[in-house]
Amino acid sequence: MVVCRTKEEIEKIRRAGRIVAEVMRDLRQMAQPGVTTRELDRYAEAKIRARGGIPTFKGYRGFPASICTSINEEVVHGIPSDRKLQAGDIVGIDCGVTLDGYVADAAITVPVGEVSEELQRLIRVTEEALYRAIAQARVGNRLYDISYAVQSYAEAHGYSVVRDFCGHGVGRQMHEDPQVPNFGAPGRGLRLRPGLVLAIEPMLNMGTYEVEIAEDGWTVRTVDRKPSAHFEHTIAITERGPIILTTLDAEPLGERDLHVL
Ligand code: MG
Ligand code: MG
Repeated sequence: MVVCRTKEEIEKIRRAGRIVAEVMRDLRQMAQPGVTTRELDRYAEAKIRARGGIPTFKGYRGFPASICTSINEEVVHGIPSDRKLQAGDIVGIDCGVTLDGYVADAAITVPVGEVSEELQRLIRVTEEALYRAIAQARVGNRLYDISYAVQSYAEAHGYSVVRDFCGHGVGRQMHEDPQVPNFGAPGRGLRLRPGLVLAIEPMLNMGTYEVEIAEDGWTVRTVDRKPSAHFEHTIAITERGPIILTTLDAEPLGERDLHVL
């Protein structure tokens, strides 16, 4: 069931999203050669709790940590560990925060030290695919306009789009309806309405789109072991366009932002 949120509910998601954004800002700086992903996780959990939030991922279906860290050929859902980041790696960092009963969810992919030009390009194109997708999250558009924006931009740059995992509605739970695939035909799917809150999250692979689950039961990696990148924001659809809720500077909604004409 797809739910449209009230202004007050979106304000709660925005406040959770502010904490997510602070964690992302800090972890982007901390992701240096020699740092373990467990150190990033410990920092994130302490930060979230100090701000009064709950790390949504911890215990979610048994997930053992507060963030996901996915290195190189790992796509999403990597488990923080004693593995040290190395110069030339790229690491995806995914984080969810629950505050006052509402969830926000975001992800970034960060270069560790100096990385190759081809990995920098993968990161750049994946982030741009996210912003192109967000730009389609407008009242009157259809859900797969978002999906098509990711797929068309990714494939135009020679990358493939992961099929097996997708974006989602966000609200009182991290994963709500609708699913937001990163591929599809424009002009199809749910008609977008004010008050819809979505986590949009392109996952782009340098090689095949096929992925598999590693032996740990969580980590998703590319079948061909080529690199993958992931970016995500939680956004609200309003009459004045999409508003990103997982940034440091998101403004509260205005009185008429959810007004249905
Ligand atoms: Mg996420
Ligand atoms: Mg998500």
